[in-house]
Amino acid sequence: MSAIGYVKNVLEVVKKRNPGEEEFHQAAGEVLESLVPVIDEHPEFEDTAILERIVEPERQIIFRVPWQDDKSKMHVNRGFRIQFNSALGPYKGGIRFHPSVYIGIIKFLGFEQIFKNSLTGLMMGGGKGGSDFDPKGKSDSEVMRFCQSFMTELYRHIGSDTDVPAGDIGVGGREVGYMFGQWKRLTNFFNGILTGKGLDFGGSLVRVEATGYGCVYFCEEMLKSKGESFEGKTVVVSGSGNVAIYSHEKATQLGAKVVAMSDSSGFIYDQDGVNLDTVKRLKEIERKRIKEYVKEHKLAEYHEGSGGIWDVKCDVALPSATQNELDEKGALALVKNGCIAVAEGANMPSTPEAVEVFLKNNVLFGPGKAANAGGVATSGLEMAQNSQRFSWSFEEVDKKLHQIMVDIYNSTNEAAQKYGTPGNFVNGANIAGFLKVARAMMAQGLV
Ligand code: NDP
Repeated sequence: MSAIGYVKNVLEVVKKRNPGEEEFHQAAGEVLESLVPVIDEHPEFEDTAILERIVEPERQIIFRVPWQDDKSKMHVNRGFRIQFNSALGPYKGGIRFHPSVYIGIIKFLGFEQIFKNSLTGLMMGGGKGGSDFDPKGKSDSEVMRFCQSFMTELYRHIGSDTDVPAGDIGVGGREVGYMFGQWKRLTNFFNGILTGKGLDFGGSLVRVEATGYGCVYFCEEMLKSKGESFEGKTVVVSGSGNVAIYSHEKATQLGAKVVAMSDSSGFIYDQDGVNLDTVKRLKEIERKRIKEYVKEHKLAEYHEGSGGIWDVKCDVALPSATQNELDEKGALALVKNGCIAVAEGANMPSTPEAVEVFLKNNVLFGPGKAANAGGVATSGLEMAQNSQRFSWSFEEVDKKLHQIMVDIYNSTNEAAQKYGTPGNFVNGANIAGFLKVARAMMAQGLV
C-alpha cells in the first residue's frame, strides 16, 4: 500500500475507535500526515504496524473522584490517566484540572507528549492525566481534599520508574504539593513520583520558569535563522498562567516588549509593556482575573473576549493559553500586522487552518511539541536530581534547559530539511520525535 493510503487507513481507525474525540483526531491527523515521507523511506514501519500501535494507548485509566466541599456537600468528578507509550522511558506528562477535560483532551495531550518527550533527548515515555474538576473559585481546603481524593486512586498506577505526572492547566505548585503529600501517606515512601514539587521537598530550580523560558529560547533560534532577535520586538502572549508569565519574563529579559496578555474572559493591552509584577501578583498570589490589571495601570485597556488578542499588532506571538485558541482569522490578522514568528507555549493552540496560514506566509512557526518541550525537559532534570538526592543551581539547570532547546531546534530543522520541507518545523518536530520512538518500538519487539 502507498504511504499515503496507509496513513489514511490508520486515521480512519483512530476515528472509529475513538468516536467524538475531536482533539485526539486532530492531533493524530497532524502527526501522521507529516510522516508520509518517513513511511515511504521505511516500509518496515508499515510491516510492523508501528502507526497502528502508536495511536493506541498502552493503558487508559478512568476513575471516580469523590470529594466534599466546605459545606460538607458531596461531589463527584472523573479522573483520567492515559499511559500512552513507554518505549523511551517511564510515562511522563502533566495533570490538567479544567471543566473541559474529557478522555479526548487527555488522549490528544498524551499523544503529543510521546513525540515531545522524545525530542528532549531524555529517557521519558508519554502520558497525561487530569480531571473535569474546576479549581476556580474553590477554597484551598476544597482543592486539597480534591487532590487527596484524586491521588487516593492514582497512587496505585504511578511510580518513579513507572509513571511520573506533573502540572498543567489548573495544576501548579499548590496542587502538586497536596498530591505528593497524599501519595507519601499512602505509600510510606519519599521519592520523585511527581515533578514540579516545591523547592523544599525535591523540586528543581527553573521548573516553574521552564516552559515559558524554553519557548522563548526555541523562538530565539528561529529568529536567529533569519538574522533576527528578540531585541526591540513587540510581543503578544496569550494566557496569564504559568507558561505565559515566564514567556513574558524571558522575552523581556532578551529585550522585547510584551504588550498584551489574556485569560479566558478577555485580554489586556498596555502600550508601555505589560507590568509582569502586577500580573504575577494578580494571578499567582491573589488568583484574580486579568481585567483587574487596568485598575492599577490607567493607560492600559481591557477588552472582553480573549480571541481579540490576535488583532494586536506585534512582531512575535506566543500563544500560551489552551488548545485551538488561535484560529484562521487570528492567524490572518497576525500576518496582516507583520508578525514574523509564532512559537506555541501551549499545546496545539493553533488550529490546522491557522498553521496553514503561517506556513503559506513564511511566518516562522514553532509547534508546541518542540517549542514548549522545555517544561517536560526540566521535569526530566528534576527526576535526575531526585535520583541523585542532589540539586543543581539555577544557572546549571537553566544552561541545560537552554542547550536542550537549541538541540530540539537543530534536530527539528534538520529533519524538516532532510524530508523535503525546509523551514517547516511542524513536519520536522513530528518526524524527529517519531523516528526515535519507532526505532525503540521495533527494537523492543511486539510492544
Ligand atoms: P495555567 O492554568 O497556569 O494557565 C492557563 C492560562 O490560560 C490561564 O491564564 C487561563 O485563564 C488561560 N486560558 C484558558 N483558556 C483560555 C482561552 N480560551 N483563551 C484565553 N486564555 C485562556 O496553565 P499553564 O500555563 O500551565 O498551561 C498553558 C498551556 O501550556 C496549556 O496548553 C498546557 O498544556 C501547556 N503546557 C504547559 C506546561 C507547563 O509546564 N505548565 C508544559 C507544556 C505545555 P483562566 O484563568 O481564565 O482559565
